[in-house]
Amino acid sequence: MTHVSIQSLTKVYPGADTPALDNLSLEIATGELTALLGPSGCGKTTTMKMIAGLLEPTSGDVRFNDRSILREKPENRGVVMVFQNYLLFPYMSVADNVGFGLKMRKTDPAEIKRRVGEMLDLVKLPDLGDRKPSALSGGQQQRIALARALIVQPEVLLLDEPLSNLDAHLRFEMRDLIRSLQQEMGITTIFVTHDQEEAVVLADRVALILDGQMKQYDAANVFYNRPVDEATARFFGGHNFIAGTSDGGTFSSPLGRLSLPSGATKGAGKLTFRPENVRIGPDPEGDNTLTAHLVDIIYLGTQTRLKLRVGDTPVEAVVNPNDVEGLNLGDQMQIHLPKATLWVIS
Ligand code: ATP
Repeated sequence: MTHVSIQSLTKVYPGADTPALDNLSLEIATGELTALLGPSGCGKTTTMKMIAGLLEPTSGDVRFNDRSILREKPENRGVVMVFQNYLLFPYMSVADNVGFGLKMRKTDPAEIKRRVGEMLDLVKLPDLGDRKPSALSGGQQQRIALARALIVQPEVLLLDEPLSNLDAHLRFEMRDLIRSLQQEMGITTIFVTHDQEEAVVLADRVALILDGQMKQYDAANVFYNRPVDEATARFFGGHNFIAGTSDGGTFSSPLGRLSLPSGATKGAGKLTFRPENVRIGPDPEGDNTLTAHLVDIIYLGTQTRLKLRVGDTPVEAVVNPNDVEGLNLGDQMQIHLPKATLWVIS
């Protein structure tokens, strides 16, 4: 039952001009799974190492339920970190690997054996206790690394790109396993990934970090519909950014005057909307119909991406393949941008 509070956490590596992590503040509720999401080099691993006690922060604090952990030794913090390359002990059996943390705590051997058996069942590898890690597949090694971390019932679990060495099928299975174990055990978890889809599927909340700075910390769906800026929207697959001016009710731009949902930001800014929210045909609400030319059609299997032009302004749409039957390149067509799906960023 651990609430994690990260307060203005900053790391400047010796000799560096800019911080690898700049003033990160996050509140993670008990039992919640938060994803630290960002491209390579943005400071994700640096953050995890400071929480785990493997790296000293330049400034800031990390608190577990109001107790600052920064002066505590790594082994006393109640944190366990699982790395992307598993780091199992090669000379020990799988069972000894899983039981290692309990042995260090001088737990009774019979109790260790019982709990190792339980953990191997939980990660669905009940029969592999006697093998050496080298005789396991990558996916199996990752499950064992997870079992070894969870057996000590940590207050906080840190997962550093745990799925990046697995193939697509195994990633999917491991995602489900991590989510169900984490929920069952109620462990507050921080998960590092550069994959926005993974973050969205797994996490209760996502913290997007770009160049050492946190851009946005929100429930996953908010990043799609209410991104704080263009860089954030682009990281989540946003394509449409149209410069213009908002008066709070309408947005004037080369697309013309479009009705905005109530509460929209006023002033100069950019209008953004998800490609999948562009609709073919006139606006039933009447306001936001545009005339577009079809420039390109890209078939994506279950969806189709359309490159359109409204006057000189490019617009991207993602639609149902049935919606474009009979359309040809160069055709003129009506589209609309439903008012509720528009968003102005400054
Ligand atoms: P990846 O997804 O590639 O693991 P990351 O987001 O985890 O990347 P970090 O490993 O935290 O990124 O690195 C953040 C920045 O700090 C990078 O610019 C990196 O080069 C730098 N950095 C990391 N470790 C050190 C170090 N020991 N000394 C100096 N600079 C470092």
